[in-house]
Amino acid sequence: MNKTIQELEQYIGEKQPCIVCKEAKFTQYAEEDYFQALKCDECGMISVNPHYTEEGLDKFYSSYYENRSVDNELSELRKIMYAEDRDWIHKFINKGKVLDIGCSDGSFLNFFDENLWDRHGIDLTDDALKIAKERGIETHQGKIWDTDVGDGYDLVMMRGVIEHFRDPALALKKCSEILKPGGVLFITATPAGNSFAFNVYRHKWKLFTPYEHIHFFTVDLLSKLLDDMNLELLARHYQYEETPYANHEKDFAQIIGDIEKIKLSGGLDDVGLSPPFPGSMLTAAWKKTL
Ligand SMILES: [Zn+2]
Repeated sequence: MNKTIQELEQYIGEKQPCIVCKEAKFTQYAEEDYFQALKCDECGMISVNPHYTEEGLDKFYSSYYENRSVDNELSELRKIMYAEDRDWIHKFINKGKVLDIGCSDGSFLNFFDENLWDRHGIDLTDDALKIAKERGIETHQGKIWDTDVGDGYDLVMMRGVIEHFRDPALALKKCSEILKPGGVLFITATPAGNSFAFNVYRHKWKLFTPYEHIHFFTVDLLSKLLDDMNLELLARHYQYEETPYANHEKDFAQIIGDIEKIKLSGGLDDVGLSPPFPGSMLTAAWKKTL
């Protein structure tokens, strides 16, 4: 456990009921450091529970942008994914007023043509937002559920973001409120709770980083929350083939070998971290009906 994570243990909050169905019967799914992921017996939602209080999360994220931007190789690969994500959502909507929630320095919004889009972004960090502003993006600072970002949006996006929120329903509700009728909510690059690789690897699944990834949704569970907010599912997709990480032969060979090892030893001690695998990340879009 690294030092920062250790120091944050005092900010662990109370155990919560399921964020989708509100029931409170769970089965343990994965465990790492002082965190445990629980799967709801009723609806199947997986969340790290309990997790940090809002205050603990603020402390954790105060150094997030700095840590993330130093990894240059990762950010080159991420650019390929930014273009993939933009091309996918452009099949449903290709101009108008857009808000990127958790926009960081505007790297993703930068892939949206400024002549076609009125580009808005919201994030917490000064340094990141300064760069976004220099890129011609209208910036808002704060948390989406208690910040005025205007309304009348044609597109609201969360890319690799919703799994970090303590209360995602608050964020989703705000998305619904600021979208125009006919507008589109786009959620992508979020770890999928019904992922085969997660089921095999549990705490050794690469996307199980419980200090930052709190909630592991499925498209159906998101739709269940969004039904009550006048948002209906348009389409879903699981990126793999088109990513720079995909390698069918290698990834399938590794998972088959690891399943054998798990069967032999009865545990995960003999396997390393999971490979990229189809179904690990979800992408989906919903349309505002009213
Ligand atoms: Zn539930």
